[in-house]
Amino acid sequence: MSCLIDTIREISPEWQTQVDELENAPTISLLIMAAWQLARVLAVRLVEEILAKRSQVKAEWELCPKCGKRLQSKGFKPRQIKSIIGEVKWERRLGRCSNKCAIGQVAPLDKELGLISHQKSDPGLQQAACLLAIFVPFETAAMLLRQLTGGDVCGQAIWEWVQSVGQRMMKSLEAELEALAAGELPETEAISAETAAQTLLMGADGVMVPFRPQAKTSEGKTKWREVKVAIFARLGQVRTRAGKLIPRLYRHRVVAVLGNIDDLSERMWLEGLKQGIKEAPQVVWLSDGARGLWRLFDERFQAYATGVLDFYHAAQNVWSGVKVWLDGRTTRCQDWFTDARHRLRHGQASNVLDDIKAAAALPGLPAAAQQSLTKLYNYLDKHRDHIQYDKLKEMGFPIGSGLVESTCKWLIQQRFKGVGMRWSEDGFNHLLHLRLAWVNGRFDSFFPASTPSPKL
Ligand SMILES: [Zn+2]
Repeated sequence: MSCLIDTIREISPEWQTQVDELENAPTISLLIMAAWQLARVLAVRLVEEILAKRSQVKAEWELCPKCGKRLQSKGFKPRQIKSIIGEVKWERRLGRCSNKCAIGQVAPLDKELGLISHQKSDPGLQQAACLLAIFVPFETAAMLLRQLTGGDVCGQAIWEWVQSVGQRMMKSLEAELEALAAGELPETEAISAETAAQTLLMGADGVMVPFRPQAKTSEGKTKWREVKVAIFARLGQVRTRAGKLIPRLYRHRVVAVLGNIDDLSERMWLEGLKQGIKEAPQVVWLSDGARGLWRLFDERFQAYATGVLDFYHAAQNVWSGVKVWLDGRTTRCQDWFTDARHRLRHGQASNVLDDIKAAAALPGLPAAAQQSLTKLYNYLDKHRDHIQYDKLKEMGFPIGSGLVESTCKWLIQQRFKGVGMRWSEDGFNHLLHLRLAWVNGRFDSFFPASTPSPKL
């Protein structure tokens, strides 16, 4: 029977090695790998053949932008780019102004192919490399790329691509923020009717990242800086095998910034608008007590969202306050706490508040205990509206901010807190924006010329 492999052997003697390897591969893995290598060289040949054909088409020379004279052909010149199938080479016509205007050489075919001058790699290769760099260190990304494709690039080149794409992403975000500040609302992302009917959940937290103390040197003591992270998600339900309905989050959108609360606030507002914060039937804000986040809630989101103080955080505060009053090592203290936590959980917050107030007013109370109880009372009193846990539970809301914390862990720790890692501000920001774009489903839009990347 006629075989593809024989045809390939006949076409080109330069593929003999690959063909032999394929035919002699002993195991299925080696067989597949050998076929893959052969497919790559075939792909390169195919691309080069097409390019050679296209370069033969007579160019309609454009006019010189300086003097208006029609450009003239100066013959064929070689061009090459790196790609995921390997190095691709071809020759194409170059034109020049016959008046010798300083406009450089013009290559109509390059333009037609979407190439800019001095570009050494295919945008598809850059996209694949940037995608890998979102998850693994630059050198590892280069190694994986080499192993999985024919893309031969070094970690440094990937680092540079990430800087350039990250910069583009940051500029685009800045433009959106400026437009918003000028009163121009962003477009709400299109969602299904089912999603639109679901509760929109939001929350924020902070996480520390190690930075270099000075630019351009790795010397000096690590400087830890806080990155603020916020998340939006839709709260849906899924039926378990036992037929029980349990909550599940969909459509995660993440905001993060190396900056202050105000920087976070404007970014969250922008994302909130995109996620339909004004149209959602219900919006829930979930967070622990930290770092000015409740001020952000009061100032920006109170009009749209129901605030929920993380239950475990509230309970932790009750314990800290009570243990100063009743010695934390005693059963009495533990019993008091267990009972208060139980009541808090089941919607008796004002009842617990009354007890704390009464305890703080006990005659003969040591000053430290009185102070501690008063502080606890004021804290819970301030959050009175945010600790109605029974109602929240009834409405199917989660009462812990685990969602936000696990997002922080995943978004930041996984890539930015590896052993020995320390970041420059720009380096961190650029990669962070690539990660955000990917999580938020906007990564591909920054590589318009190439194909969609797979959703992992
Ligand atoms: Zn000219």
